[in-house]
Amino acid sequence: MSKEQGFSIDTDGIKHRLLAERSQLLSKASPALNNPLSQDERDSDEADAAVSTDFRERAMWLAQDQRQKLELIDQALQRIANGSYGHCQTCGGAISPERLEALPYATQCIRCQERVESHGRRGGRERSAVDG
Ligand SMILES: [Zn+2]
Repeated sequence: MSKEQGFSIDTDGIKHRLLAERSQLLSKASPALNNPLSQDERDSDEADAAVSTDFRERAMWLAQDQRQKLELIDQALQRIANGSYGHCQTCGGAISPERLEALPYATQCIRCQERVESHGRRGGRERSAVDG
């Protein structure tokens, strides 16, 4: 079992986690989002119908958030497949295994993420300060 040299990321484990989280999200999300032609869902009781109304209302609120997350998960799975997983998309550096452990679909290293977050704050004043 020879793995990538350099850093020790358990991509198999992470892949499993991502897939699990993905199916969880899909089960929560609106069925229409996932598989429009799902015939299994058609078997609905009265109680089921009542639940599904509530379910749909919730899905409306959650859909955007979940879709975003699903996208991130899909991207992470793709990166695992093509071997680019674990690299920061902004600076190209390695994302720390700890960070990936906490956030398997992270696309940026902690430094770039922090930079984005501090830049994301929109105040009245704009500092065109010296960079570094
Ligand atoms: Zn970076």
